[in-house]
Amino acid sequence: MKKDLITRLNEGPVLCAEGYLFAMERRGYLSAGAFVPEVVLEHPEVVSQLHREFIRAGSDVIQAFTYYGHREKMRLIGKEELLEPMQKNALKIAKDSREEFKDLDLLVCGDVANTNIYDPDDKKSHSECQKMFEEQVEWAKEAGVDFVVAETINWTGEMKIALKAIKDAGLIAVTNFSIKATDKTREGHTPEDACKIMEDLGADVVGLNCYRGPKMTMKFLPKIREKVSCHVAALPVPYRTTETYPGFLNQIDDGCDCIPGGNAFPVALDNLYCNRFEMAEFAKECANKKINFIGICCGAEPHHVREMSVALGRKPISYKYYPDMTRHWLHGKDKSFLKINTSMSKKY
Ligand SMILES: [Zn+2]
Repeated sequence: MKKDLITRLNEGPVLCAEGYLFAMERRGYLSAGAFVPEVVLEHPEVVSQLHREFIRAGSDVIQAFTYYGHREKMRLIGKEELLEPMQKNALKIAKDSREEFKDLDLLVCGDVANTNIYDPDDKKSHSECQKMFEEQVEWAKEAGVDFVVAETINWTGEMKIALKAIKDAGLIAVTNFSIKATDKTREGHTPEDACKIMEDLGADVVGLNCYRGPKMTMKFLPKIREKVSCHVAALPVPYRTTETYPGFLNQIDDGCDCIPGGNAFPVALDNLYCNRFEMAEFAKECANKKINFIGICCGAEPHHVREMSVALGRKPISYKYYPDMTRHWLHGKDKSFLKINTSMSKKY
């Protein structure tokens, strides 16, 4: 009998690689701005390859690339008719990837996310959101996912609607808020209060994803851990966001004056990247604090994921090619290396 997410989390950390949108944008398969995952229909093989790379790097979860493949986004690009095929294809690609790695105990999850149409004062928008969430959850359920993540949502009210759609379908629900610069949800709930509200409404896992880098995410995690009794999730973006700009949507790169418009988000964040070791430290700190659903969001690449996996004491498939600088001609130690080279290693 396959263990479900909660059993897995009870036993220890579960690693979840996300960040498909940014990864696909960098590779030239979707457009920043609208950020619609058309790639799942146009180039499914590229999505499969990224799933493969994340799995090889140690991700326990294959998240179907349905993020932003929702009705509002499809309307925006005038391709609403592609909504259902896109969602179903994304789910199929994720499941096929699991089949490729039969020896691993991988979980497949679906996703619902910020609709961008939720307005607390407009009741009609609530039922529109509900419909969007319900149709996505239904497709995920049909595909037999292990759980559904509601993520990158910053209205507590919108999260409640998403959570209800997942629980009404009888599925395990992970609810991850993205917290903006005010340090609160859009209504003004602290992250720990918002998470507690979700736990009380039946969420199985509560936490944070996206917007903030590891440090600015970690800031909230101890309070959340203290406030709720269910499992906690943490999936920051791999960027060095700061107290001045806690979220990556307003990042400035002081080292560069040629970014159109001046905002490093979303396509010029390169210089603000966390390296793999910073992400590994984050993973370790989470595990020490009993935050067991650990991951990485927009910006993630497999090298980050592998180091996080290693930090959790594992040896994922791609560990085979883990760095070994003892074999480097300048910095290494092999007896065959020329002294005239290695003696220069500190001042080359
Ligand atoms: Zn993200």
